[in-house]
Amino acid sequence: MSAKALSPVKAVPVFPKPGHDHKVCSTRALREAEQLCETNDVRLTEIRRRVLAAIWNSHKPVGAYDLLQKLAAESGKMAPTTVYRAIDFLIEHGLVHRLSTLNAFIGCVSPGSEHGAHFLICDVCGTVAEFDATAADKQLTQAAEASGFRIRSKAIELHGICAHCAAHPDG
Ligand SMILES: [Zn+2]
Ligand SMILES: [Zn+2]
Ligand SMILES: [Zn+2]
Repeated sequence: MSAKALSPVKAVPVFPKPGHDHKVCSTRALREAEQLCETNDVRLTEIRRRVLAAIWNSHKPVGAYDLLQKLAAESGKMAPTTVYRAIDFLIEHGLVHRLSTLNAFIGCVSPGSEHGAHFLICDVCGTVAEFDATAADKQLTQAAEASGFRIRSKAIELHGICAHCAAHPDG
């Protein structure tokens, strides 16, 4: 007797489709960044734009060291402090998120919208998706505050296997 198959869970499509035209994503992200900066009356300088484009190179998070390497390969060495300042700017304006469990950066898929830091991280392909965990987030906050705890920062990062990797274990 074979084990009873689990009924398939209807997945909400938050993960990007493997093999999609990523140029569409990165172009849209840069356009949205420009619009957001214009609305907020701040400047998306050439350096900030280059750093954002490098982070948006894929849906996989990139660490500071790799980012510096990538930027250097593309357009010549850049001072780390310059890059770090640009990253700080991008985070401050909600264009980039920092993943604390990976110490790496990922481009925000809906900058300008009010949302918590909620991430699904596939440990197989490395892809990261933002998902809506507002209800859980609220519960966590209430539980913490009920104990007199004052939250300073908050992120929900779930590690696991995305639907694509689960369905295609051989890649
Ligand atoms: Zn994409
Ligand atoms: Zn986001
Ligand atoms: Zn995956």
